[in-house]
Amino acid sequence: MAKLINGTQISNDIKNEIKEEVKELERVKGIKPGLAVILVGDNPASKVYVANKQKGCEEVGFLSETIKMPEDATQEDVLKQIDIYNNKKDIHGILVQLPLPPQIDKKKVLEAISPLKDVDGFHPVNIGKLVAQEDGFVPATPAGIIEMLKREKISIKGKNATMVGHSEIVGKPCALLLLNEWATVTICHIETRDLKMHTINAEILVVAVGKPYLIKEDMVKDGAVVIDVGINKILKENANQELLNWRKSDFDLKGSTLVGDVDFLNVEPKVSAITPVPGGVGPMTIAMLLKNTLKSAKNFAQMK
Ligand code: NAP
Repeated sequence: MAKLINGTQISNDIKNEIKEEVKELERVKGIKPGLAVILVGDNPASKVYVANKQKGCEEVGFLSETIKMPEDATQEDVLKQIDIYNNKKDIHGILVQLPLPPQIDKKKVLEAISPLKDVDGFHPVNIGKLVAQEDGFVPATPAGIIEMLKREKISIKGKNATMVGHSEIVGKPCALLLLNEWATVTICHIETRDLKMHTINAEILVVAVGKPYLIKEDMVKDGAVVIDVGINKILKENANQELLNWRKSDFDLKGSTLVGDVDFLNVEPKVSAITPVPGGVGPMTIAMLLKNTLKSAKNFAQMK
């Protein structure tokens, strides 16, 4: 039986640590970390993510502000709002919820955020710092993956690590973080000819693709550590019998369930540790975003 890496528990521990640091920051410097979120349009998933970020801020005692802009907002409107937050003293972190409507150039928007307040870590300055191993902001999901491994005392140094997926928000930064921890890293993507050849050798396998059941048991090394980042909603009518039995209460209640990219029921018996979906990497993302915002507030307060 594999160890289940409990992201909910780890993220609660992190949030409790943040709460204590917030009290100390207020006591010593009289400041409260502040996070501003810009939401453009009506994407239902984005609304849920933004609400969760606000809730996370409340839990740890941050100030949080959300600006909701209409679906037809112009790039200028968004850039103006970023400029306001770049200059606002009680805001230490700014994030623009993605995806953006098509009339808005994502790169221009992300580059307009001050790198000092870029708590999502998507600004080219922070990407450069990650490559150069300088102190900056690291994207929350990959930072959460490394934090989980460390808190579970899973050593990374010298290990063969395979990253499946090369997105800018998860795959690429996660591969760099693993490399910075001295793993030997292989990165796989849509053009990878023989995925199994690379996953079967991985002592640490991280999967961030968004395809349910991509990773089957014959693709995973015995005793590997598996981090499943994927989040896929499966409707009752599309579920196989195994999933219908396993997640019966979800299907009865909501008519759907969430699974990762790894065929969990068949992979779990042969690995040493694995993250569940939900309750694995997901909760870590918000905890690490809050951690980045606290770090920014401390930087502004010159309190390390
Ligand atoms: P993305 O931008 O769509 O990236 C998916 C990556 O997988 C791309 O690099 C893609 O390559 C690659 N890929 C597609 N098919 C593949 C295959 N058959 N073999 C190998 N690689 C393949 O998605 P993302 O933003 O990284 O997110 C990935 C998943 O993680 C999604 O399910 C998302 O919901 C989830 N996610 C979870 C969290 C969390 O907090 N837990 C955070 C972010 C994302 P190409 O680009 O070359 O097509």
